[in-house]
Amino acid sequence: VTEKPALRLKFRDSSSVIVGSGREPAAQDASKPSKSQPPPVGTEALVVKCGHTIAFELYSKDAFRDQRRTKTASRDCSPCRQARVQADMLAAKERRAKKVATFSKALKPRLPDGARFVATYDATQVQWIGALTVEGATYERSGSSLNKLLHKLDDVYRAAKPHPVDAEAVTATSS
Ligand SMILES: [Zn+2]
Repeated sequence: VTEKPALRLKFRDSSSVIVGSGREPAAQDASKPSKSQPPPVGTEALVVKCGHTIAFELYSKDAFRDQRRTKTASRDCSPCRQARVQADMLAAKERRAKKVATFSKALKPRLPDGARFVATYDATQVQWIGALTVEGATYERSGSSLNKLLHKLDDVYRAAKPHPVDAEAVTATSS
């Protein structure tokens, strides 16, 4: 483990932040002498789980020192734990954003008022022949099933007609 003096300073600064963050297990608090803790009488270098060396605080009346040392050594240092919390939060945020994007992409706007499907089955061709009329424009397709025909017509209509948001943008730039 390489010593980084600059990092050690950071550990000491951030230790109070971590204690107050509410993520500390209750057992940790119980092992501390008291709430009104006297200032540490010294520190000792302690290599913790993540491989960083921290300044482990020593107190004059410190019945749980060994327990505390073992527990501290079994965990990552404060900056590493904070960094992981940050990374986890960021990853969760990204996952949520992705989910929303996928959902809104899958959500097609409804057809306009008065949209009309007409379908006729052709037994010789084994095809449904149909048309979708939307706002004066008619799209024609055929499909092996009524369901396929309706989806094809819907797709051709949406491909021909720009997305409502795009249409607004076009109007705005052309006027
Ligand atoms: Zn670390």
